[in-house]
Amino acid sequence: MSDRAEFLIDLSALTSNVSKIKKQCGVDLMAVVKADAYGHGLVRVASAALKGGASWLGVALLEEAITLRENGIDAPILAWLVSPGSDFESALSKNIDLGVSSIKGLQEVTAAAVKTGKKARIHIEIDTGMTRGGFLDEWQELLKADFSNLEVVGIFSHFARADEPGQQQNEDQLHKFKHMVSELEKIGINPPIKHLSNSAATLNDKDSYFSLVRVGIAMYGLTPDITHMGTSKELGLRPAGQLRAKLHLVKEVSKGVPVGYGASAHTPSDTKLGVIAMGYADGIPRIAQGAGIFVKSKRAPIIGRVSMDQFVVDLGSDSTAKSGDWVIVFGDGSHGEYTADDWGRASSSINYEIVTRIGPRVPRIYQSHEY
Ligand SMILES: *Cc1c(COP(=O)(O)O)cnc(C)c1O
Repeated sequence: MSDRAEFLIDLSALTSNVSKIKKQCGVDLMAVVKADAYGHGLVRVASAALKGGASWLGVALLEEAITLRENGIDAPILAWLVSPGSDFESALSKNIDLGVSSIKGLQEVTAAAVKTGKKARIHIEIDTGMTRGGFLDEWQELLKADFSNLEVVGIFSHFARADEPGQQQNEDQLHKFKHMVSELEKIGINPPIKHLSNSAATLNDKDSYFSLVRVGIAMYGLTPDITHMGTSKELGLRPAGQLRAKLHLVKEVSKGVPVGYGASAHTPSDTKLGVIAMGYADGIPRIAQGAGIFVKSKRAPIIGRVSMDQFVVDLGSDSTAKSGDWVIVFGDGSHGEYTADDWGRASSSINYEIVTRIGPRVPRIYQSHEY
């Protein structure tokens, strides 16, 4: 246990979310563990996900894939955001599949394959309407490329609005995906693995499963979109992370005193304030208003602006909370505590950003000792 704050992660919840989702969709599952597994810890989460039945790991960066390999993880890994000029030879020697989304990327991977004498395993990313990564304007050029040093393992794309079931754009992207796959097949490239679904599509849309789904947020037990898809609980998911902190200081103040930088808030009545020793350096959004902490079976909302290392909550005049008590910043909500969704809403953001930005000063503590 840490002295100040900790992100408590229940790996058994993670494993059970993975196995539940896999059972529901009935196809292979790639556990998306980019960005330090959405803040939950890359290597521990990857192991827990594999234990739950994931057969692939997905990351954005090549260095994330290398870290997994260096920690003894030998499951198939795809890294899809590999920068120009990366160490492609290292990727090949470590058996890491590479997402390719440009002719330049294709040339660099091919050069590494020629140099090492080892065919490079690639997944071609296509832009079906998100207009971010993937082949779009260079598609015709790709169809004329030399694939002889490459093993095209996969073809994939990404939805922009899968968290809004019924949106026409989802249909359009699926249609375009199938069309581009067929164009590739016409030139004799038949990637065995086609993948399109993120968590939202995996929970919503059977037609876009193909043989593999890429699941991120849902595996952590969080809803892809609380407005359109409901809460974690409604989706049958168990949030794996609980952010806790120690109450640093409690003080009695009178009505009408200004609190924090810019005196943006004043106490509405005589009350007790609690100081939490976490701030935006730890991933607590500076603009958050309307979230807070949970202590002694009661919510205490943020008052004033969050600063770099601290924020202040209004405990209420009758609170019995004391300096040194542990409080829940967010959790699964089952006792009445705020959730990552509440914190997202309180800062004009989403649960993804709340968990992913928990800073490096906050130790990750693992509850399950199975791994
Ligand atoms: C992050 C990411 C995912 C996972 O998305 P979730 O909404 O967290 O399931 C899947 N595919 C790609 C390409 C991604 O970048």
